[in-house]
Amino acid sequence: MPNIFRKLPSVSQLLESPQLKQMVETVNHNVVVEGVRSFLDDLREQVSNAADDVTIPSPQELAERIAEWLKSEEQPYLRPVINGTGIILHTGLGRAPLAASALAAIQEISAGYASVEVDIKTGERGQRIKSVERLLCELTGAQAVAIVNNNAAATMLTLSALAGGKEVIVSRGQLIEIGGSYRLPDVMECSGAKLREVGTTNKTHLADYERAIGDQTGALLKVHPSNFEVVGFTKTVSTKEMVELAVRHSIPMIDDVGSGALIDFSRFGLLNEPMVGDSLKDGADVVLFSGDKLIGGPQCGIVVGKQKYIEKILKSPLMRAMRVDKMTLAALAATLRLYRDPEVAMQEVPILRMLAMPIENLRLRADKIARQIGYLPFIGSCDVVEDQSMLGGGSLPTQKIPTWSISIGPAEQSITKLAGALRVAKPSVIGRVQKERLILDMRTVQPGEDEALVSVFEGLNSN
Ligand SMILES: *Cc1c(COP(=O)(O)O)cnc(C)c1O
Repeated sequence: MPNIFRKLPSVSQLLESPQLKQMVETVNHNVVVEGVRSFLDDLREQVSNAADDVTIPSPQELAERIAEWLKSEEQPYLRPVINGTGIILHTGLGRAPLAASALAAIQEISAGYASVEVDIKTGERGQRIKSVERLLCELTGAQAVAIVNNNAAATMLTLSALAGGKEVIVSRGQLIEIGGSYRLPDVMECSGAKLREVGTTNKTHLADYERAIGDQTGALLKVHPSNFEVVGFTKTVSTKEMVELAVRHSIPMIDDVGSGALIDFSRFGLLNEPMVGDSLKDGADVVLFSGDKLIGGPQCGIVVGKQKYIEKILKSPLMRAMRVDKMTLAALAATLRLYRDPEVAMQEVPILRMLAMPIENLRLRADKIARQIGYLPFIGSCDVVEDQSMLGGGSLPTQKIPTWSISIGPAEQSITKLAGALRVAKPSVIGRVQKERLILDMRTVQPGEDEALVSVFEGLNSN
């Protein structure tokens, strides 16, 4: 058995092959040598574990296989995707695509040095969130602002700074889990605040909160049940009522609104999404939300509210551990600036543009693409179908947005294989597999991506 290994070419022999020589030139000598070694190790192991009738590939074939494997390993894990899923804020696909002005701001601010913590007028040390603060106060009516990495961080920081070691009262109907690892009770525990649950899953009354308040109470917390809805026999306490109660007991009222709408989403037919400014107007002391959900900006957590509470939050050591970098601040400021005129935001912020896209446009684009790819030999059938997009990202889970999709059935290969080939293409194309068909929703495919989408199909092998 070990004799068979003698047929394996040596590492240096393999490196002489034209394929691997070229890899050395395009990648790096050490990376290729290590790659060849580990490929040969794997092969040896496979051979020793296999039954006796194994054939060792020829040196040339081996070199080709190693080069192919190295090439695929060199592809960045993080790469652009054409989103055909119809889920507008797809957390797995990076949530909100950024506006052009946000991208330009990132480029401008991060290519060189920037006035991150220098006050340009005085030359003194300044605050890194100054430009974002002014915009957010203007857009929401807040007095002050803190920006951290995401809303999970914003929640942990706020609870720690305002209610660490004390009890925070939350309705049992609002103890949410957001996709992945966000579970409110766990975030609360990490913050050092103690969860005090009140009410029931479907009904919580003002009196439930009132009875729970005592000398251990640090804050009242309201959480938007972003990704689920309780219907039927229900009762929740309004922000206003909670604020009145909090004021009476001199404790802060914290409102985690989640998606953080800055404009009224009913213009898109999407109802009941709380607006940040409304919560502040109702008297909430601190409002928490994400930057990359309905605002359509970079990933971050935004804390807005009354000066005295934000000051406490900014002084927490956790603030330093969670603060955002200049790229996030630049992108957030540029995105917020678009909201000064909601009409401009609707045209420039990609997620708002997607929501506002007239349905006839989607149909025309779907028709055109279907015509362009329908004749390809590996496509069995390609239809344009009425469909429904979703907001996603834990926002408005039960509300569907009408759309047009392309529904593709492969000629011979399995649907899994076709979906897989599209996923590894460049750019990657990800749709929904539904009843042996691949669905590509035109609402989440950016209009500028239509040609690239057709090219990906044209470039696919028919096997
Ligand atoms: C999405 C969401 C979070 C978590 O926000 P991230 O920015 O993803 O950390 C927290 N609370 C609510 C209500 C949410 O909807």
